Amino acid sequence: MQTHFTEEALKQPHIQEADRVLRSCVHCGFCNATCPTYQLLGDERDGPRGRIYLMKQMLENPDDSENVTEQTRLHLDRCLTCRNCETTCPSGVEYHKLLDIGRAEIERRVPRSTAERAQRYALRKALVEPKRFQALLKLGQTFKPLVSGKLKDKLPPKPVDAGTRPDHKRHARQMLILEGCVQPGLSPNTNAATARVLDRLGIGLTPVAEAGCCGAVDFHLNAQDDGRARARANIDAWWPHIEKEGEAGVEAIVQTASGCGAFVKEYRDILKDDPAYADKARRVSELAKDLVEVLRDEELASLEVNEGRRLAFHCPCTLQHAQKLGGAVEGVLVKLGFILTPVQDAHLCCGSAGTYSITQPELATQLRDNKLNALEAGNPETIVTANIGCQTHLNGAGRTPVRHWIEIVDEALPTPVNS
Ligand code: SF4
Ligand code: SF4
Repeated sequence: MQTHFTEEALKQPHIQEADRVLRSCVHCGFCNATCPTYQLLGDERDGPRGRIYLMKQMLENPDDSENVTEQTRLHLDRCLTCRNCETTCPSGVEYHKLLDIGRAEIERRVPRSTAERAQRYALRKALVEPKRFQALLKLGQTFKPLVSGKLKDKLPPKPVDAGTRPDHKRHARQMLILEGCVQPGLSPNTNAATARVLDRLGIGLTPVAEAGCCGAVDFHLNAQDDGRARARANIDAWWPHIEKEGEAGVEAIVQTASGCGAFVKEYRDILKDDPAYADKARRVSELAKDLVEVLRDEELASLEVNEGRRLAFHCPCTLQHAQKLGGAVEGVLVKLGFILTPVQDAHLCCGSAGTYSITQPELATQLRDNKLNALEAGNPETIVTANIGCQTHLNGAGRTPVRHWIEIVDEALPTPVNS
């Protein structure tokens, strides 16, 4: 695609980046075929090709206030950032990088109402601090009958008890785990189950209390500087464990929520212009692994799991489209003896998409119900997934229970003989 930026504009790094992405797009429209919002709304401006064109017009014309309006912002807001279009695109267009630039620009040029700003601010503040989130969650669960509307769907029942975590120090092999911000409150068993399964494989998970939210919530609600600040804080927390003087550092930084994993793998991109953090961010992104990347490389027979439970797997967009790990969890589960039921249109988003289910509730509910119909078609006993956002969103419908896949593996482990 031809672009028309001035030489002056091209001196700015974000315009250079936008120019690079725009030039890689050949405007073929193949991506529209797999875009969930285009499928639901049928409007070119609610598909990737139309959004690319809207962002091109906006960025090339910095003084155009007539065509850059709240309507433009709405079409960008409706994008799930699911990156299905990137998987489909034959030209390798890095759409999400353009979207980050476009969203920051529209936020500056078309400010939101006070109410919308307040909602986004409250979301960021409520979700990213684990202690605050857990206190709010407890309050919400206690007074659930009094809570109204969509928020009620977001309040899960009391979660499965986490059980104990084994002593990580008994293993020479060590990995770090990102505990996450909402997951410890919504599904505390996920990380505990991970610790138990990895323990059986001879891997200890070193806890790092100073690490917090990965930064994705802030970054995708257009508070990009706050998202970068969280990335820097996590790098500072992990660095002493990565660079251990005279000893081997940790093997990996494990994420059990694919949304967090996708974002930690992007630290190298979002901090590439920060001279103090660029090299460290690259190293952290290299070490970041989704849990399935750890398990698929291990000798799984040593787990002695042989299960026949029927499961339907929902592959989060952040796992299949962002991290390109589609099929990996299914491979591990089948190796362990689980039976996977067929799921149609597995490439489509469930509508969770970070805070999308709160900011765009109608579209999110349609996508959720379509996804559950597809997941339930093969009569699974349980639906499993790999991201707490999808898990909570799908569970909000109160249909077949949805859990993290590692919890099911943990439950299928044989009891140790000396326990
Ligand atoms: S498929 Fe790729 S090249 Fe074609 S319009 Fe979409 S983003 Fe552009
Ligand atoms: S990221 Fe998802 S919702 Fe957004 S344009 Fe691409 S396919 Fe459509």
